This record gives sequence, structure tokens and C-alpha cells, in this order.
Amino acid sequence: MNAAVRIDPETGLKVFNTRAAKASEKIGGKGYSVLNDQKLKELPEMPAGSTFNAEEQAKYRAFKEARRGAADYMGMEGEFKKYLDDVYSEPPIPREALTDECEILVVGGGFGGLLLWHRLSEAGFTDVRFCEKGGDVGGTWYWNRYPGIACDVESYSYLPLLEEMGYVPSMKFASGFEILEYCQSMAQKFGFYDHCLFHTTVEATTWDEPSGRWIVKTDRGDKMRARFVILANGILTTPKLARIAGMEKFQGESFHTSRWNYNIDLRGKTVGIIGTGATAVQAVPELAKIVGQIFVFQRTPSSVDVRDQRATTDEERTTWANEPGWARARRARFSMISAGRTAIQANDDYLAGKIQESRKPHNYDRTLTPEELIQKQLDSNFRIMEQIRARVDAIVKDPKTAAALKPYYPYGCKRPTFHDEYLPAFNLPHVHLVDTAPRGVAEINERGVVHEGVEYPLDVLIYATGFQWMGTSTFNMVTGRGGRTLKEKWETEGTKTFLGLHSHGFPNLFIVTGPQGGGGSFNFTDAIDAHSDYVVWMLQTMRERGARIVDVRKELEDAYAEHCRDVDLATAPLRDCISYYNGEGNAAPGSLAYYGGGKWHKHRIPAQSTLEPYVFEDGELTVSGPAE
Ligand SMILES: Cc1cc2nc3c(=O)[nH]c(=O)nc-3n(C[C@H](O)[C@H](O)[C@H](O)COP(=O)(O)OP(=O)(O)OC[C@H]3O[C@@H](n4cnc5c(N)ncnc54)[C@H](O)[C@@H]3O)c2cc1C
Repeated sequence: MNAAVRIDPETGLKVFNTRAAKASEKIGGKGYSVLNDQKLKELPEMPAGSTFNAEEQAKYRAFKEARRGAADYMGMEGEFKKYLDDVYSEPPIPREALTDECEILVVGGGFGGLLLWHRLSEAGFTDVRFCEKGGDVGGTWYWNRYPGIACDVESYSYLPLLEEMGYVPSMKFASGFEILEYCQSMAQKFGFYDHCLFHTTVEATTWDEPSGRWIVKTDRGDKMRARFVILANGILTTPKLARIAGMEKFQGESFHTSRWNYNIDLRGKTVGIIGTGATAVQAVPELAKIVGQIFVFQRTPSSVDVRDQRATTDEERTTWANEPGWARARRARFSMISAGRTAIQANDDYLAGKIQESRKPHNYDRTLTPEELIQKQLDSNFRIMEQIRARVDAIVKDPKTAAALKPYYPYGCKRPTFHDEYLPAFNLPHVHLVDTAPRGVAEINERGVVHEGVEYPLDVLIYATGFQWMGTSTFNMVTGRGGRTLKEKWETEGTKTFLGLHSHGFPNLFIVTGPQGGGGSFNFTDAIDAHSDYVVWMLQTMRERGARIVDVRKELEDAYAEHCRDVDLATAPLRDCISYYNGEGNAAPGSLAYYGGGKWHKHRIPAQSTLEPYVFEDGELTVSGPAE
């Protein structure tokens, strides 16, 4: 067997062999099923005369206000730390602690890490090291293996580098298990495994001014130096739990959906699931197929839109085999779609290039003001939600359950979901919706969940309570110039970045798909692509200039943060609900996701051509701005 760490005699670089074996063959599953019942795959007609009038607006407001402050989440600490254990892999491969240096150290081995490696190695950067908490690649798709998991962005656009990999996904919305295997194939093909330290969590990254290096410490005792650190640690990586009185008392089995315990046989069991977001919407229909009873504890219903899953056709396979660049072109078309629902509906004719528009263009007789445009969006958005609510009535037989399953907030304000089996599941005699609106589950005891004096005894309790969004805990481990952490900086000054990728005072640090980082569409791998290209461009620019250190100018960072704030505020009515996207209603405008659409590129392009935002140092001399 190969040593966990060896030296490549040709390059003198360390080569790693730390990928952990799969813990159990029981771990496996599939995503969405293909359904034949056409009725389940269509939204009802738009209710006649629907307008987002004062009465409807008041209903939305009441729905929101009733939930204000109800979201009380906590990290997995103390007795709940066990929920973070890596249940998917064999224990870590033993290895010596590393105390050496590399040029580029990347945190994360998801699509971010994989795409960065692909671009970096193509550009000739080979002294690159990855640290990944999990035992294998995949990130999101490593950790999330719940039954029913699938991507919601069509897989032909979501999976990157399909041509390079010579791969065509089996389904329009590939299962998470297929996506994980795809990540593993990418890692094999591009030689990623040799560069990655698995089961290695970066705990601290500290800028050392005298050496112009980052000092990176891990939970494996490593203390490595790196000239550049790239955070590719994801947007939805840190699972969270709702804080519920008595949860530590529960005597049955319990776990979070991002650490699915396949050692527990759920067949015939009485199962409770807390949370009805995107994960539960995918998992509940699959659970309903095997469990004895399932109780779904809901505080706020998701918008459940049509999925229309299908297998990849033979015709598509033949066409794409003869169409070089098909996947890149499809991804590019996908990225041109500016409306969330249109993107996710993934019109095949448009994406295949057979028609030029993803939806009928609006022909207004004059240019609308930004306020008028928002109003138009709110109105059409309301009509989509009316159809989604009408779909609930059309499918769910019990009127009380149907009423509880109807969401009242602007479409897309909370993570939209798509499924054709979730709503019908509530017609099954063993599937029970427990409506805990508006405050959520408040008590758990030894036997199960208690709501409004009724006890629901459970064999297994599953937390589908989601993840921290964007502001991951990782930022408190990055200490820049002056001994200040990124978290401290952002807490005192507000979130400040340039393009989401740099933050002043944190030289040679790049943040991939972090707060304020745009560049993508509704497809996250597209944003990762844009960010990877940018990082490689910067590293090449520095190489050409002989620069060793890059930081950004404070004024330009301030201006960019202001821009993020403005675009967030301008479109805020579209996100008027309590959602993880807006920090449960508490996030400062512009501090989390980027709502500027293509405007990110409008900031990036001049920055790259003028180099004005950057301060380059070569170690002794400080050079600023464009080269002569
Ligand atoms: C269930 C689910 C479904 C999704 N579906 C879609 C979809 O359909 N379309 C879409 O565009 N997006 C989707 N997303 C978002 C998804 O996260 C991104 O598409 C993409 O996979 C992110 O890749 P990443 O590499 O940036 O982050 P991740 O995949 O989250 O990978 C980050 C990695 O960093 C590691 N890490 C974090 N901190 C540390 C540390 N300190 N030290 C070492 N390692 C660390 C983590 O273990 C993780 O493996 C989904 C997310 C979830 C949770």
C-alpha cells in the first residue's frame, strides 16, 4: 500500500494518499423518480383576476410577522457535536503532521476545490494542496446523502466539465449519489487525490507579515505555510439545529440530514422529521415509501413547484456526441436566464439552442422605472405563488393539511423547491403533517416531539434543519494583518469585500462563492467557475509582474460593499420574508448573497483591465496600480 505522504522524485513535491474508504455498502440511494401521472407534473391554471392587492399583501405581512424571531438555531456543539461525525467514511488514514510549505493551499474539496484544481493545474500551478474535512471529494454531495437527494439546477448545466469528462448525466436532475460519483471521477481523472489531505479540518489561518505567508493549522496537528490561501469551503456547509427545549433527552435514534445514518433501518419505523425546506421536500417522499409512520413537523411551508423529472434521452446522447462544446454552450445559455423560476424550469428547447428566448420578452411601451419593474416582478411573482398554492388544493385531499401546506411570501424569498411526489405523500394514511406554525416545535422529551400538549412518540427523529448560509464559521479562523479575524472585521465594519473574493487586510487570500461574490446565475457551479478563472488570472498576473503579495485598496472595497448594499436594497421587496437567505430577517443589506445579476462582471472587468483596485508587493517594494 502507498504511504499516506511521499515525495514525487520528479517534482520534489509531496504526494498524498489520504482518501478514506466508504464506511459501509449500505450507503446509497437515488434521487427523484420519473412519474407518469401528467396531472402531478402541471401547475393548475392561473386563478382568474389574481392581483397582489392590499388584502394579499397584508396576508403576506401577517405570515412573516408571526414568524419573526421564531428561528432560533444553534451550532452542533457539546452533546450535539456527535451529529457532525463523518458517518460516510472509514476512520482517517494515519499520517505524519505536516510542517512544510506549499504555494497554494485550498480549504475544501467540493466542486470549488475540484474546479480550482482543474484551472490551476492547466495554468501550470502544481504546488497546490487541499485540506478537506470529509474523507473524500464532493463537498455538498459528500455530506448530503439523504434518500431522494438530487440537484435542482438541471444536471446538464450544473455538472461542470461534462465534455472534458466525456460524461452525460443519466437524468435531467441527477441524484446526489450520481453527482458524488461524478466528483470522484473528476478527482481521479485530474489527479486531485494526490493533492488532497482528507479528514483534515483547517482550524486557523494566520497571516505572517515577516515571511509574507499564511500559517495554516489543522486538527491533524499540521502547521503548514502557504503563500496563497483559497477558501472554497462552501455556502451551505455548516449544519445547524433548531434550539428546542429537551432535545438532549430524546432516547431514540436521531441525526441531521447531512449525516444520514444508514446503519439505522427505517423500514416500518415511526419517524419524525423536523423542518420542511428543500431537503425535507426531497426526502419525505422516499421516506414515505419505507417507514411505518412519518410525522412531518412544519413551521413554514416551502413553495413546491413542478419538477418533471426525466431520463436523458437517446436522442440527446446522440446529438451531444456529435456536438463539440454542447455542455459549455448549454451552461452559458443557462447563465443568461435572469428569473429564478425560469432557470429552474430549465426549458430544454432554449437550453439546447433550438429557440433563442427562455421566455416571452415583455414589450412595455416605455422604459419602466426600477420601482415599476419591481412592482411588475412582485405581481408576476404573486401569480406564480397563486398557482403553487392552487396546486396544493388540487393534490392534497385533506383541506386542513392543504391549508397548512400553502406558503405566503414572494416566490424565491425562501429557497424554492420542486417535487411531484411531496404533496401527494400527504394523502397517504401513514404520512402526517404536524403544523407547528408559526413558532415551530418547542419541546422534545425522552419519547419524541410534543406539540400543543400532544406527544408524538418516535423511533427515529431526523433534523432537516438546514445549514448556515454564507457567513460560515470558517471566517473566524482567518486572521489577517494586525491580528484581526475576518469575522471581527466584518462585525465591526460590516461585510467588506472586493468582488466577494478579496478582503482588505487579508493579503493573498481568496474567498470562492462567499458573501458578496457574484458572477454566477442560479447555478452555483457557474459562480465557482467564474471565481476559479478570476483566481487563476490573478495568480498569473502576479507571476508576470513578479509580485508576491496582493491586497485590495480600502476605498474600492468600501465602494463595492456600498454597491452590494444598494442592489440588495433595490430588490428587497422581492425577499420580504424570514429566510436563511436574509439571516432570518436580521442580515444587514448587502452582507450575504449578491443580488446584482450581471453587475458583478461590470465590476470585475474594469478591475482586471486597469488593476486599479489592487496593491501588489514584491516582498520589498510596494507597487500599486497598473504596470507601465
Ligand atoms: C442539498 C443541497 C442541494 C443543492 N443543490 C444545488 C443545485 O441544484 N444547484 C446549485 O447550483 N447548487 C446547489 N446546492 C449548493 C451547493 O452547495 C453548490 O452547488 C456547490 O456544491 C458548492 O460547492 P463548494 O465546493 O463551493 O462547497 P461545498 O460543496 O460545500 O464544499 C466545501 C467543502 O469544504 C469543506 N470544509 C469546510 N470547512 C472546512 C475546513 N475548515 N477545513 C477543511 N475543509 C472544510 C467541507 O467539508 C466541504 O466538503 C445545493 C446544496 C445543498 C446542501
